[in-house]
Amino acid sequence: MNYLLINASVAKAGNWSAKIKPKIATYPSLALTLLAALIPPEDNVRIINEEFEEIDFEEKVDLVGISFLTPAAPRAYEIADKFRKKGIPVVTGGVHVSAMPDEATGHSDSVVIGEAEIVWPELLRDFKNGALKKRYKADGFIDLAKIPRARMELLNRKHYITTNVIQASRGCSFGCEFCSIEKMFGKKTRFRPVEHVIGEIKAMKKQKVLLFTDDNLIINPSYARELFTAVKPLKRYWMGEASWTIGNKPEILKLMKESGCIGLLIGFESIHEQAHTKKVSKHKDMREAYMKTIKALHENQIVVVGAFVFGFDNDNISTLDETLNFCLETNIDIAEFNGIIPFPGTPLYSRLSKEGRIFTREWEKYTYEPPGKVFHLKNMSNDELNHNIHRIYRDFYSYKRIFPRLIRALFLYKNIFKVFYLFIIFLGFRKKTDF
Ligand code: SF4
Repeated sequence: MNYLLINASVAKAGNWSAKIKPKIATYPSLALTLLAALIPPEDNVRIINEEFEEIDFEEKVDLVGISFLTPAAPRAYEIADKFRKKGIPVVTGGVHVSAMPDEATGHSDSVVIGEAEIVWPELLRDFKNGALKKRYKADGFIDLAKIPRARMELLNRKHYITTNVIQASRGCSFGCEFCSIEKMFGKKTRFRPVEHVIGEIKAMKKQKVLLFTDDNLIINPSYARELFTAVKPLKRYWMGEASWTIGNKPEILKLMKESGCIGLLIGFESIHEQAHTKKVSKHKDMREAYMKTIKALHENQIVVVGAFVFGFDNDNISTLDETLNFCLETNIDIAEFNGIIPFPGTPLYSRLSKEGRIFTREWEKYTYEPPGKVFHLKNMSNDELNHNIHRIYRDFYSYKRIFPRLIRALFLYKNIFKVFYLFIIFLGFRKKTDF
């Protein structure tokens, strides 16, 4: 059997110009490499990331699998329709399909709802027996001790900064209204046995940096301790994501640093508490708590990547300026500013739908870049929001801000390579905001 697994292109769905189309990705998604690992060894499998590679519709394949994010949905359906016209069956899956299975069914021979690893082996067996079902719905969540090693060797390395990507846990209990993790991966965090994670890291070819794709590496302190202690002897530099509460856990932070952590993405989301609770009316100021976290990370020579989202119902234009000032005052190394997007499957999408505030379901518009305008904001227009995101990006990544930040980083990190990479990242952000 010949299987073709495709990651559908967001850029193609939105007809992005060459100017904004990404040339390279930081790292690949694990989804298709994990499904490839579950395909029996006697069969052939290829993976195409359509963001960087062309699909050959003449290729001899028996089954096509397409995974996609919401903004790539129109393109994914186009690809599916083309293959199906040629008589090649198509299976679709992923977060968007799990939220909108009826929509995907119109373009697929079969749809996968939920975590695909649970139903994929059954789907492959049914396909070989000529009995493919219309729907495969994962009943519950997979035990992470049972997931295979991702087949990263099937990816074209040149399209990514690193393919050394690993996931130790899935699921999150924080319940942020705009996030689909709870629906897709559950409220209860599941963990891979530490020895599996370590075995997979050891089997990876050394690349500059290892990336953990977990949504919150410190959600369970005892697992975090065990993991970082086991990673330490491997002598790898790594980056990952953690919640802002890391600032209250000095012992774990120390272990993190000793195990090779050089950078952390922190989803601060909002300087008000609203982002971290389903009660979006909450307006508690979080700046002091966040400041403590940034200080603690810097004291451990860990680069802070702060992600912020705007467009919550309590936000107005001054929220953006307050956030910019907060980033400058706290010396956050890298800041990401995005407008909030109500992706299907999230509580936010359900609430805004009920309130009649979503004005388009043209999925290709559900992007951060270019900023999507898809629902009515409360205290500003979409144009005002996008203009002001652009304005604070331009300020944060202006040369007058970048150079003092680099000099400070040189003193803080005492590592010329770290500072060089920061400079490259800053240039990337400058390009992104079209200076
Ligand atoms: S945004 Fe992050 S912290 Fe919030 S629910 Fe999603 S994964 Fe959890």
